[in-house]
Amino acid sequence: EYLKKNKLFITSSHLKQIPGIGDYISCSLSAILKNENCAVVDGNIKRIIKRVFNLNESSKFFKKQVFYIAKELTPDLKNGIYCQSLMDFANLVCKVKKPYCEKCIVKNLCKFDGKQQKLNKKPIINKLGIGFFIRENKNFLVGISKKKLFQGLYSIPFSDFINNKENTEKELIDRIILDWMSLHNISQKYQILGYVNHIFSHFHLKLFVVDIKLKSKINLVNYKWMTHRAYNSKPKSSLMMKVKKLMICI
Ligand code: SF4
Repeated sequence: EYLKKNKLFITSSHLKQIPGIGDYISCSLSAILKNENCAVVDGNIKRIIKRVFNLNESSKFFKKQVFYIAKELTPDLKNGIYCQSLMDFANLVCKVKKPYCEKCIVKNLCKFDGKQQKLNKKPIINKLGIGFFIRENKNFLVGISKKKLFQGLYSIPFSDFINNKENTEKELIDRIILDWMSLHNISQKYQILGYVNHIFSHFHLKLFVVDIKLKSKINLVNYKWMTHRAYNSKPKSSLMMKVKKLMICI
């Protein structure tokens, strides 16, 4: 429906225009449905390439190497069958644990030595942010995010995400709220509704949600007033789905 309405075709570049769809999903769909010869790299394909070419996953060039090889190997024709075959091969033969190397058709080419590489685990980065539920009567402020993580998705306004240390959390929350409100000339009382935890690939976020009840509407650049009903029909990130549960509690 979205594709039809926006006159988009099933190509990786068109699919990427849909909010929330990134490189992997757009390439897989257009490869599998339309045989577009774009390089699909999921966890399974990455594992095969890593093993066959004996790549070092700790190297800073690892991602680039995998993508380069995937691109070189992608066929011009029938890419859909190629991708699905690789995924089946990864699940049935080149499995995560105990791959069937003895029976594998590429065993003579493969450089895998049977050892799983131990990755240096990166320390978890904890961040803190504030979402602002700014409401007047039955409406609240909503905008389309320009941040890379949520590009094209609808959300309530929220602060930048700041590195969080448990012992200074309270001060940090107050500072972020007051700074943000003064930047936007909002001086009403506020209450903290609660927080949601969300895990991103490179950090863990604790997002507090602040309720600000206004007597009359204000203008905030890039945001417009919307009812819950209208907001429900808009594309949102899974983080904002969690936040919505806090918003409907009041
Ligand atoms: S030889 Fe083993 S590690 Fe290499 S591709 Fe085949 S199953 Fe995977």
